[in-house]
Amino acid sequence: MPDYDAVIIGAGIIGAATAWRLQQCKPAWRIAVIEKESACAQHQSGRNSGVIHAGVYYAPGSLKAKLCVAGNQRTKDFCREHDVAFEECGKLLVACSERELQGLAQLKTRAEQNSLEVDTLDERQLRQREPHIQGLGALFVPASGIVDYAEICRELLNQFCEHGGEVLYHHQVHRLVEEHAEVRLFCKAANDSEHVISCQQLIACSGIQADKLVQSLGLDLSFRMMPFRGEYFQLAAEHNQIIRHLIYPVPDPSMPFLGVHLTRMIDGSVTVGPNAVLALGREAYRKSQVSWPDLAYMATYPGSYRLLGRFWKAGLGELRDSLLKGAYLKRVQQYCPGLKKADLKPYRAGIRAQAVDSQGRMIDDFLFARGKHSLVVCNAPSPAATSALPIADHILAELGLH
Ligand SMILES: Cc1cc2nc3c(=O)[nH]c(=O)nc-3n(C[C@H](O)[C@H](O)[C@H](O)COP(=O)(O)OP(=O)(O)OC[C@H]3O[C@@H](n4cnc5c(N)ncnc54)[C@H](O)[C@@H]3O)c2cc1C
Repeated sequence: MPDYDAVIIGAGIIGAATAWRLQQCKPAWRIAVIEKESACAQHQSGRNSGVIHAGVYYAPGSLKAKLCVAGNQRTKDFCREHDVAFEECGKLLVACSERELQGLAQLKTRAEQNSLEVDTLDERQLRQREPHIQGLGALFVPASGIVDYAEICRELLNQFCEHGGEVLYHHQVHRLVEEHAEVRLFCKAANDSEHVISCQQLIACSGIQADKLVQSLGLDLSFRMMPFRGEYFQLAAEHNQIIRHLIYPVPDPSMPFLGVHLTRMIDGSVTVGPNAVLALGREAYRKSQVSWPDLAYMATYPGSYRLLGRFWKAGLGELRDSLLKGAYLKRVQQYCPGLKKADLKPYRAGIRAQAVDSQGRMIDDFLFARGKHSLVVCNAPSPAATSALPIADHILAELGLH
């Protein structure tokens, strides 16, 4: 008999949400979460902008659109029910040129296709709402909010443990073997000892490590994970009141990321960021950090070169802004001209886990891979933190466990 009915790899927001929902659906099951770090939310889930997205940007009918719209409501409901601080502060997408005004109109149509309530503001209305922000117009998205996703993760896992679930920290899964009736996980514990754990159902929510687990299970690997570092600054505390909403630029539709934004954080501070720089390692949070094994892995993949070929110009721009604070500042000054270099204080970076196919295309939608007794979350970039509860239900439905 296997050690557990189900094991979930990864104590990020998706692993935590999946464990919590699975336990509700199967209260008699023995379920464990296996995490290589010493606490939950140490990677993407604890290093993001903390925005509860509304679902403006995503292609109608995509999983991102459906699960984000549902996740916006579910996240707020969860926070209300479990006393987790959040705020529905709304978002302004600010257009600074005629071209961006056209982009704004397209985003409005998309938001309406995704059944969102949005409002167009002209220059004067924007000034009234945000005296420190300049632009030709804006799209107001009232449903956007802010939260600390690490706090949600802790709450989900506390409840999971209170109801009999187990979380094994300091356990790094380095090999998976899927057999006739079970999956065996080979884990390295903190003292380098080897543990073998077996389960009937495996769900891997391992973020940037997803491709390694897909490979280990012997499933078709049609993508590789690429690490894009998102570097932030924090505004000096005297600027904590500089904005009332989240302030976003109009994104370039040919780029997958949302652009450097001003974000009110739930602790009252304001961050600026993130940019998107190809990192030299899956967990290379500092600019100077390099992981040679990760680089070698990327170098053997044709998709890496094709990605660089597609985005070399934008990539060089991101690198320049990463190295030169003045260049980074200029991006924000387009819509917040009053900010100065000295206002930007250091802040932690995050690394986006982005799946890239062999043609060098970034996979846009959420993506999952199935084995006989396993499911791996392969691509869960933003807005996956917002969407975590509906993603959990989607996973359980895929496995017939809902
Ligand atoms: C800079 C940045 C800003 C973002 N902003 C937002 C935002 O504002 N709103 C939003 O909705 N989304 C945002 N996102 C996206 C969001 O943070 C992620 O989509 C989400 O956190 C993904 O959660 P996860 O559980 O899949 O991954 P992670 O949080 O990365 O968790 C994966 C976990 O698996 C563990 N793990 C991996 N491999 C193993 C192994 N072999 N053995 C054991 N454990 C393992 C890791 O240690 C980790 O704890 C942002 C992301 C970034 C990086």
